[in-house]
Amino acid sequence: MNTEFWVTCPYCFEQVEIYIEPDVEGEFVQDCEVCCQPWRIRLVRDAEGMGFVEVTRAQ
Ligand SMILES: [Zn+2]
Repeated sequence: MNTEFWVTCPYCFEQVEIYIEPDVEGEFVQDCEVCCQPWRIRLVRDAEGMGFVEVTRAQ
């Protein structure tokens, strides 16, 4: 079960590594560490618990 993900900020286009608790799934909002803009993060896990993230603008 992976908890660290590399995502590309949809605002500043920096690559940022984020940590997500292993029991977290679904959609939530988190600010970019670089530009502080709000991300909407969608995390889906498969049967093995392997997660995939999508990041879009929350505004
Ligand atoms: Zn950013």
